[in-house]
Amino acid sequence: MSRVTILDKTFETSIPEAEILERVKRVAEQINKDMAGKNPLFLAVLNGSFIFAADLMRFINIPSEISFVKLASYEGTTSTGEIKEVIGLNEDISGRDVIIVEDIVDTGSTMKRMLETLGTRNPRSLHICTLLLKPGKLAVPLNVEYVAMEIPNDFIVGYGLDYDQQGRSLRDIYTLVQE
Ligand code: 5GP
Ligand code: MG
Ligand code: MG
Repeated sequence: MSRVTILDKTFETSIPEAEILERVKRVAEQINKDMAGKNPLFLAVLNGSFIFAADLMRFINIPSEISFVKLASYEGTTSTGEIKEVIGLNEDISGRDVIIVEDIVDTGSTMKRMLETLGTRNPRSLHICTLLLKPGKLAVPLNVEYVAMEIPNDFIVGYGLDYDQQGRSLRDIYTLVQE
């Protein structure tokens, strides 16, 4: 177990790089099989998914495309609170088999919102591929087809994921140490 300090918090290794890559490879193989003959469009959600997307794509061996989007958060005027808008989507996704590439699904509300937004643009099919899923936190009905790893509810960093924008370059995944 190695420990790192990021800003005011301590984290310890929870998933080593080799295991992450093994799981990423496995989920890529599932996609290669399911999407054979379909030329899917991967849409990676920045910033958190950048390392996952890079590793995932190198295990994809079927014709495909990748593009990148960001989610802009702002406080909505409705009681639903935070609204996330998809920005940077310049591709025409109509008739395409789209696979959203996300770092982590927590409550699921971000992905639910993204499915709704992309759904209005007439894709042929819409799928979610996430590096991490916290099943204990999922609060909305959501079909997450491709999951590299399921984890407990603790806050994690590394392999692209941040704590206050720090820690993304850590090669392993680290869990917050509860003090
Ligand atoms: P959701 O809408 O599913 O509740 O939240 C998803 C977003 O919250 C993720 O895309 C990610 O940005 C952030 N998030 C949720 N859990 C964690 C975590 O354990 N670590 C980090 N770094 N971000 C998280
Ligand atoms: Mg994310
Ligand atoms: Mg973040």
